[in-house]
Amino acid sequence: MPTVSDCLFCKIASGAIPVTRLYEDEQVLAFPDIRPQAPIHILVIPRQHFASLAHTNAADSALLGHLLSATAEIARQQGLAKGYRLVINTGPDGGQTVDHLHVHLLGARHMGWPPG
Ligand code: 5GP
Ligand code: ZN
Repeated sequence: MPTVSDCLFCKIASGAIPVTRLYEDEQVLAFPDIRPQAPIHILVIPRQHFASLAHTNAADSALLGHLLSATAEIARQQGLAKGYRLVINTGPDGGQTVDHLHVHLLGARHMGWPPG
């Protein structure tokens, strides 16, 4: 699996930095966000390094679909029957701070709109 040596989430995916693994399969991994913004705040990442969603293309559709369906399964496992919020911050204007594609799964409280 291609990894980037100085990428925080590649190090988490490889096990070099230990995290609580809430879900994992051959393609994706989920772990708690270190600074939770909701009672449940989970990051779901592809094992493969993409700097952001903007760095994917049509050839990655199957992986991106799996990333979303795995996230829905994690939400079910977490008991989020009343709903949840998914966020993919992308690039500087999107507020992205870690340059490895990740889905934020936020739940167990009501989410406001519009986002900040
Ligand atoms: P972004 O701002 O790029 O959308 O989200 C990055 C997320 O990664 C933030 O919510 C931040 O709290 C989380 N984060 C940053 N460093 C670590 C870390 O070392 N471990 C974990 N579990 N989460 C981290
Ligand atoms: Zn990475």
